[in-house]
Amino acid sequence: MTREKAIIETGWNLDNSYARLPKSFFTSLNPIPVRSPKLIILNYPLATSLGLDFQALKSIDGVAVFAGNRIPEGASPLAQAYAGHQFGHFALLGDGRALLLGEQITPKGERVDIQLKGSGPTPYSRRGDGRAALGPMLREYIISEAMHALGIPTTRSLAVVTTGESVIRETKLPGAILTRVAASHLRVGTFQYVSEWGAVEDLRVLADYTLQRHYPDVADAPNRYLLLLQEVIKRQAELIAKWQLVGFIHGVMNTDNMTLSGETIDYGPCAFMDTYYPATVFSSIDVQGRYAYGNQPNIAAWNLARFAETLLPLVHDNQEEAIKLAQDAISDFTDLYHRNWLAGMRAKLGIFNEEIEDESLIEGLLKMMQKYRADYTNTFRALTFDRLEDSVLSGTPEFGQWREQWQARLGRQQESKISSYQLMRNANPALIPRNHQVEAALEAAVKQEDYSVMEQLLDVLSNPYAHSPEQADYCTLPELSSQPYRTFCGT
Ligand code: AMP
Ligand code: MG
Repeated sequence: MTREKAIIETGWNLDNSYARLPKSFFTSLNPIPVRSPKLIILNYPLATSLGLDFQALKSIDGVAVFAGNRIPEGASPLAQAYAGHQFGHFALLGDGRALLLGEQITPKGERVDIQLKGSGPTPYSRRGDGRAALGPMLREYIISEAMHALGIPTTRSLAVVTTGESVIRETKLPGAILTRVAASHLRVGTFQYVSEWGAVEDLRVLADYTLQRHYPDVADAPNRYLLLLQEVIKRQAELIAKWQLVGFIHGVMNTDNMTLSGETIDYGPCAFMDTYYPATVFSSIDVQGRYAYGNQPNIAAWNLARFAETLLPLVHDNQEEAIKLAQDAISDFTDLYHRNWLAGMRAKLGIFNEEIEDESLIEGLLKMMQKYRADYTNTFRALTFDRLEDSVLSGTPEFGQWREQWQARLGRQQESKISSYQLMRNANPALIPRNHQVEAALEAAVKQEDYSVMEQLLDVLSNPYAHSPEQADYCTLPELSSQPYRTFCGT
């Protein structure tokens, strides 16, 4: 293939509407080229859905784009400015190691951000080097793609390349760049930035832009800014419920890591919970448990209150009235979240209709799981396949009684038991990206350049509701260790 042909045939169809927003919202700059890019992994189904040609992307020129060594036509790279509450403390942030290349217009006419993460320093880098290491970028790839396959809104991972350069963390590590695909990178923190340092007119431009991109149905409504708040609250209530239902712990729910599209973003110290325990925290720096599993809904509400504050000048001319409207919207979150969670839990137990007592049935199960340190995913899987001998709960005094109640509950609905078990199969994943398995895949990849372990893991994670025989091998729990699993920020 000739050079020109490869470029044309790649399929990049980029625009950058963000670059047309007020100049204070970003800094235009190019990625810093790297020494010798090498493609480690490329996401075939995602590339295809974006209208990109897999073979052309794998060519030297195709890979050069993922490395930041070549800017495709239509791109106008920029680092976005944003602020955020980090563990409750307000700070000016911005893309310190990422660049938005532009927005790919897909064959379906959708507009998605294409972002390079690890592409070199920007004016927002503070003391950081602007770079990323291979392990954490592959970790984001694995977990974000697993989340997508679980049916949870998330940013996606298109490719990871190594740079041929080292990054220094505690030791020297291979440098890498992740190409991230997102509905957008608009965050609560983007609004906090403009609210703090911009004019009300800037805020209006940002809110209208967000409405156009994510909530076009209400973008022209007279009370559209209140609707924006309500719609974001609705999507976040759905998202957080989905996290809770699979045992996902984000780990760093700072306001800059909460999107307005309702996608999960920023896979740093996140991890999935094995044994059910609401106080579970993996992040080494989260000593207070601010972002513990059981606290995620509260934190989401707190973050959304920060979002609401930024919108006050747009919601109503009268400040008191604006505060009242915003407070009403925020107080709806808890109820919305709870309804989503309850609906999801009912499906996990094969329940189609609603009874008041369902909640105590669910709580009863969770309490037992907590008491006997049952594995969250495997318990629901065991219930789904009536393989309770696999569960630590089976020999306990409470379980027999709970099971009778549950079976009686299933008997009080029109649907057959077969339909219930089908519902459960579709609601309870066969597997999640378990920490010890993700670590094993990363170790083989980074230390031995053996990507086969990761590829097999990605393969079984790509269809978590298949319940195929190969997936059974991935349900094994980590060996008991005196050291709890730990994750890290600043990777
Ligand atoms: P995060 O914890 O990933 O949400 O990042 C918080 C802030 O630190 C963001 O502004 C990031 O862009 C920035 N940041 C993280 N790592 C680096 C790095 N290696 N170099 C420069 N900035 C970074
Ligand atoms: Mg972040």
